[in-house]
Amino acid sequence: MENICRIAEDKTYKKYSATDENIYPFRLMPKVDGRRRVVLLGATGSVGSSTLEVIRKHGDKLQLVGIAGGSRESELNAVADEFGVSESVLFSRDGEPGLEYLATLPEADIVLVATTGTAALRAVLAALEAGKDVALANKETLVAGGHLVKAAEQKSAGRVFPVDSEHNAIFQCLEGNRTHGSIKRLLLTASGGAFRDKTLEELKNVTVDDALLHPNWSMGPKITVDCATMANKGLEMIEACRLFDVEPSQIDVVVHPQSIVHSMVEFCDNSIIAQMSKPSMTFAIQHILMYPERKEGIHESLDFSKMMNLEFRPPDEKLFPCLRLARQSLEAGGIYPLSFNAANEVAVDAFMHRGLPFLSIPAIIEEVLENVHYSLPDTVDELIDTESRIQADALKRLTF
Ligand code: NDP
Ligand code: MG
Repeated sequence: MENICRIAEDKTYKKYSATDENIYPFRLMPKVDGRRRVVLLGATGSVGSSTLEVIRKHGDKLQLVGIAGGSRESELNAVADEFGVSESVLFSRDGEPGLEYLATLPEADIVLVATTGTAALRAVLAALEAGKDVALANKETLVAGGHLVKAAEQKSAGRVFPVDSEHNAIFQCLEGNRTHGSIKRLLLTASGGAFRDKTLEELKNVTVDDALLHPNWSMGPKITVDCATMANKGLEMIEACRLFDVEPSQIDVVVHPQSIVHSMVEFCDNSIIAQMSKPSMTFAIQHILMYPERKEGIHESLDFSKMMNLEFRPPDEKLFPCLRLARQSLEAGGIYPLSFNAANEVAVDAFMHRGLPFLSIPAIIEEVLENVHYSLPDTVDELIDTESRIQADALKRLTF
């Protein structure tokens, strides 16, 4: 135990590093009165409500001290009442400074980011600058502004912890196992989304309602459409490179329709470690909010007394070109991941609300990527400006 504490206290071991001693390579902020104090951005959404489930169950360990929502005021007020939260911010009324205010609350230990898009980029940077830990469910922030987040993390006493289920699985698989050069590849599992068994011909006429029928997960609408195009897995490849400092060539996607294996790591000896559980975000959220402790979970165990099939197959990039486009963006680096994300947001919004055909989503992204001519901004203001320009460009390309 003494050894573990020494490592945890030593700043040089805070990141995954080329050492075989990193038993707890990350360290969360210490708890006060035995409870970790949580700010939740996106409290009225899908990940938000799973986070509330975890805090409700483990009220002796976790305390909600600040919440933000987008527009659903009455839902946000109900959360504030139930958890006795005095600091709440509604984005539609308070705007972005409200998120930064919450992310830097002196009483907060950890900020769980469950907003959509890049709305919380400034708040993530502010939280790290204030030395807070960040539990990141929101992947768009890392895809678009990963370099800014990593730079802020380098200087911070706080860390970024992965809550996206695949990345949380990889984080768990790596714990105690990562030594210099030991990772061969990360295997990101994908359910395949609503259209995993469709043909290209059938995809021509799918509707928004069809796309929102995810076979395994109940999530917000944007990410559910991203699963149907597999852009979500594309974003996650980029997210994984940012979080775990691996090369794009070290990431593979595996379609796993049951969503029981949440991702895997293959080591240089060809041995693979996987993390498994029922498909619910509460596992990843609880793992991080309690880290490094383990407590009773919300969902029951997997039942091995019954027949259970686990299938794995390669993804079809012809059917789901978003995967190819994301990989190309990741390999090209620079402005491309941000552009992929910005174009995808515009195209998905147009599919959901303006009748853009499903197969035009990758077509719009590809056109934007072929024509983008910006360099990667190195300040947050420039980044947000560049993102808006790319989104405006994508909007102009919507012809239907
Ligand atoms: P939802 O659409 O269900 O929820 C989004 C939340 O963010 C809502 O509370 C919404 O508020 C709030 N919000 C939106 N814009 C703002 C803003 N500008 N300021 C403050 N709050 C805002 O999304 P999900 O929970 O599905 O996803 C959240 C993030 O987590 C996404 O980045 C997604 O990719 C990622 N993720 C989600 C998973 C899931 O299971 N859902 C799994 C893994 C990752 P309101 O509703 O009040 O307008
Ligand atoms: Mg995921």
